[in-house]
Amino acid sequence: MKKNKKKIIIISAYILGGIIILGLAYSFISFLISWQKTALESNCEGNLKTMGIIVQEYHEKHGNYPNNLYNLPEIEAMKYQPTCPTTDEKYIYEKTIDGFIIYCPNPEKHKGYTGSYSKCKYLLYDSEEGVIPIDSTDTIAINHFECKMNIRKIAAGIVEFKSRYNRYPESLEQLSKYISIDASLFCPESKSKYIYQKSDNHFRISCPDPQTHSRYFNVYKLYYDSEEGFIHEYQK
Ligand SMILES: [Zn+2]
Ligand SMILES: [Zn+2]
Repeated sequence: MKKNKKKIIIISAYILGGIIILGLAYSFISFLISWQKTALESNCEGNLKTMGIIVQEYHEKHGNYPNNLYNLPEIEAMKYQPTCPTTDEKYIYEKTIDGFIIYCPNPEKHKGYTGSYSKCKYLLYDSEEGVIPIDSTDTIAINHFECKMNIRKIAAGIVEFKSRYNRYPESLEQLSKYISIDASLFCPESKSKYIYQKSDNHFRISCPDPQTHSRYFNVYKLYYDSEEGFIHEYQK
């Protein structure tokens, strides 16, 4: 009877020990997995930053932005292939009216610390602001970014119109008539129409209510001006 009890105690100790070891192994493995996933996400940000700096340096040297990111010898010489380390997809490079953006095509496939999928809607390098991660729940930040991209697209359309017809369009509607731009003419946050001002050799396109998508500042300007460039001004 005593022997049996001892046996049971020993067996229970083994089982308990086994459970503890399994538990430790499990938490160690999940730590490794989350560490790896986090490392992958920050590698993606790191890739964007490295490529952004290479393009900025190209601009300093040549006075313009490259048409294709992947032709640059500096990009080809990057230690790691410039693809997203999680999805292995190529980054997308787009020239904007006054700069460029490079973005990860699928940041929502990144995984975070907990192993759950990233809530990142946009992860990009913007020549205006450097690396910006935008959370999918942060609608103000999303609309702010999309408003900026709308302004840049409309400005690019106006410049193209001017190069074709040697004059600025009378109204923004004329852009959709002559040039295919998919940009909306309305701010995604305030829903107000962009303000277009022009003279013979100058134009400006601005968001009428940028304060609706600036959470932290009172006065805030957001426009593209053919002389001043992209103005993105915060005032405390
Ligand atoms: Zn990525
Ligand atoms: Zn806006």
